[in-house]
Amino acid sequence: MSRMPALFIGHGSPMNTLEKNGYTQAWQAFGRHLPKPRALLVISAHWFFGATAITAMARPRTIHDFYGFPQALFDVDYPAPGDPDLAGEIAELVKPHWVGLDRDQWGLDHGTWSVLVHMYPQADIPALQLSINALQPLDYHLDLAASLNRLRDQGVMIVGSGNVVHNLKRLQWDRADLAYDWAERFDDAAVEQLARAPGDILRLREHRDYGLAVPTPDHFIPLLYLAGLAAADGTPPEPLVRGYSMGSISMTCFGLGAAMELRKDATCAARLPEGVPPDQTNM
Ligand code: ZN
Repeated sequence: MSRMPALFIGHGSPMNTLEKNGYTQAWQAFGRHLPKPRALLVISAHWFFGATAITAMARPRTIHDFYGFPQALFDVDYPAPGDPDLAGEIAELVKPHWVGLDRDQWGLDHGTWSVLVHMYPQADIPALQLSINALQPLDYHLDLAASLNRLRDQGVMIVGSGNVVHNLKRLQWDRADLAYDWAERFDDAAVEQLARAPGDILRLREHRDYGLAVPTPDHFIPLLYLAGLAAADGTPPEPLVRGYSMGSISMTCFGLGAAMELRKDATCAARLPEGVPPDQTNM
């Protein structure tokens, strides 16, 4: 079995669940054109708490972890099955890191299903979530990610779901495609850092715009999982989609071993924005 691609998805507003736009069409293309995984392991910005845990229930519930959005969003159900056996295998794989098996607490939150409803609308692929341990330093997440890389040889697609730039206090709700200059600078720096040395991604903490781009670590940490996988793999991630929303959100997505797969299909390649430069085709 060939190595499964891994992704980082800039998920943006929960409303992307219901919308059809350039980003959601790209997510749909990922689901259609990447090799079909046997299971999905998602690291969502929205499961950020004081322990490392993995969902281990056969039927994870759809969690509506937001408020102030239309009823249609609360009505969304994403009934993908879980895979308790795989959850147990992952907990063994990452030792000596400790991962708790969550049999009845969490489920799939909107960081996961707002994307998966577009990627895999049939909800027929088992989906697991790995929590973000808020008590650990950032380099812990790079280490943990590296220990997950072997799963990609077992048909598991690892997906980080967050945003490279995510500052809710600076949001301009009525400016769908606005980008602040500091948001663009930081996003560009992330693209560059991942292309050059993904294992050194924490150098971004020294970037002058880090404080504005990453006021809280929750949406940034899922990117560290892709960086850690890339470092373990010895392959740089590729930006698949780039863009901004409401000034202070970056919608940039990255793939690891994904761009070539996507380019095999001409209709899909045509739909990908300029984030995939042609000179990276043989990476
Ligand atoms: Zn979010």
